[in-house]
Amino acid sequence: MNHLLELSPNVYMIKGFTNVFVIAEETLTVIDTGIRGNEKRILKAIGELGRSPSEIENIIITHHHVDHVGAASRLSQLSGAKVCAHKDEVPYINGELQPLFFFHLSDLGICFWPLANMIWPFLTGRAKAGAAGVDVPLEDGQVLPPLGGLKVIHIPGHTPGTVCFYSPQRRLLFAGCAVQNWFGRLSLPHFSWDVDKTGESVRKLAKLDFEIMCIAHGPPILHDAAQRIGELSDKVQVIRAERG
Ligand SMILES: [Zn+2]
Ligand SMILES: [Zn+2]
Repeated sequence: MNHLLELSPNVYMIKGFTNVFVIAEETLTVIDTGIRGNEKRILKAIGELGRSPSEIENIIITHHHVDHVGAASRLSQLSGAKVCAHKDEVPYINGELQPLFFFHLSDLGICFWPLANMIWPFLTGRAKAGAAGVDVPLEDGQVLPPLGGLKVIHIPGHTPGTVCFYSPQRRLLFAGCAVQNWFGRLSLPHFSWDVDKTGESVRKLAKLDFEIMCIAHGPPILHDAAQRIGELSDKVQVIRAERG
């Protein structure tokens, strides 16, 4: 069970390139799914928790990138769960619009178009193959039932409809790709649709009160996570100010 970690009571992380989170209460909530085919790992983990696929009520998606939504369609078919995502992500997830994909050195605000263009066909192809139908479009501020109230926080930047999910009661934030923590180095995401908005969104998150932060890429932060986000936000503001 070493790929399955309990981060907080009833909150589990399935470790991977894209971490998947499972909230195991009376029903199950899955946050992000990983790439196409990853449903097998999710179902295996749910089995290890002694639960069954039909107990998954909702699959909630932080944004439309294929490494988050790729297994949503299949997992939804196998479990009967509803797929939920912010309304601005729906056309991308449903395959009506091409996925947005940019490679930024976020700290500097540089965008590498040639690289983005080289990998674009690969990504769009994969995204289409895993395209899911969104059953429930989400809005900023909406409160979902898990963990005593899980608030949808719209933080545009990485993509237009990127969201975090926040439990004030548990002081826990599912940050998705608001930030990344590769090798324990907390930074803005390298891939951003709008790098300035990404910075503003991190500043918005820094105002929340949370101890634990679950992150899509890289290890979770289990203590003083809001403070870490605050430090990152300050650093980003300084770099932006220097850049003018
Ligand atoms: Zn992404
Ligand atoms: Zn990702």
